[in-house]
Amino acid sequence: MASLFVFNTPILNSPHGVMLMPLLPNALASVLPTAFDADQRYSVDLHMHSTASDGALSPTDLVTLCAGRGLTHMALTDHDTMEGVEEASRAAQQAGLCLVPGCELSTRWQGINIHVVALMPGGLQGPMIEGLEQQREARIKRAEVIAERLEKMGLPNALEKARAQAGSDRPLGRPDFARALVAEGVVADWAGAFKRYLGSGKKGDVKAHWPEISEAVGWVVASGGVAVLAHPLRYGLTRRKRGLLMDTFMEAGGQGVELVSGQQNPDATRDLARQLVERELYASLGSDFHFPGSHAAPGSMSPVPRTAAPPIWQHPRLAHLRDAPSGMLGAKPLNKLS
Ligand code: AMP
Ligand code: MN
Ligand code: MN
Ligand code: MN
Repeated sequence: MASLFVFNTPILNSPHGVMLMPLLPNALASVLPTAFDADQRYSVDLHMHSTASDGALSPTDLVTLCAGRGLTHMALTDHDTMEGVEEASRAAQQAGLCLVPGCELSTRWQGINIHVVALMPGGLQGPMIEGLEQQREARIKRAEVIAERLEKMGLPNALEKARAQAGSDRPLGRPDFARALVAEGVVADWAGAFKRYLGSGKKGDVKAHWPEISEAVGWVVASGGVAVLAHPLRYGLTRRKRGLLMDTFMEAGGQGVELVSGQQNPDATRDLARQLVERELYASLGSDFHFPGSHAAPGSMSPVPRTAAPPIWQHPRLAHLRDAPSGMLGAKPLNKLS
């Protein structure tokens, strides 16, 4: 009999169908393997983008793709906005999967652009309302600065061109400028646009408008959410500096870290897991999916190593999500996905 753990709830596939077992008492659960250890067949992806930010799929299309790929739990985490969440929630209800409202906040720490995933089980509420409004204004002003700089470097009418690429009136991001640079023939491709103009340390990498990481984490925590440090291996930090970032993040109330984000080196992941365990941080995971055809697909990421770090869905603020909608019960296990 196959069993898998989803949100710490064992689901038994018996010849008579699928039964949802009652939750184990805490004392017993703590001596059993964690949900991560118990089964690698996750159906969870807690970091994805839609057209509400720089993703290619509408919230509805994203949810449909996730359902088709057998996901049972997903978070929509667009950059600095929760505009797509309402539509995604409706689609998720129809598709019978569990949608965790969220966003990915742009922040600063020691001059570096750090991303914080906000998982918001109660939706947009509290200080996050004001926080996201501030992010929206910051993004609009920042786009003007990026445009000015790119104009000086050979892309006339940069703001209008990036706006045309965005295809909607949402605040612009660097990917819109990247597309404009490609469309105008300034660079050959998207990677070149980041390498020469928009990537870390380049003129178009404008960070000054973002809040300090502590401020952003404060909004999340005060609004009933769980703050998760996004893709900690992607900032080019040494292990020691990454630890300092985690410490600052925790002092502000952050409690989760993305242990796995997309494809990662297994050794680096194991080392990261140790940093989580040392600090008693929860582990989250996500594909950071943006568009079909890229290396990342919903639910497709490197495996989670054996770790004592508890999965983020065991966080008390997310516990009610463990009781997934009935639609999830027929879901395909993720290890069958390509
Ligand atoms: P923004 O939110 O405007 O700062 O844009 C950040 C987004 O740009 C990221 O979420 C990625 O989608 C994309 N991006 C950032 N750096 C790179 C890079 N080096 N190569 C490709 N895409 C990138
Ligand atoms: Mn992005
Ligand atoms: Mn990010
Ligand atoms: Mn992202």
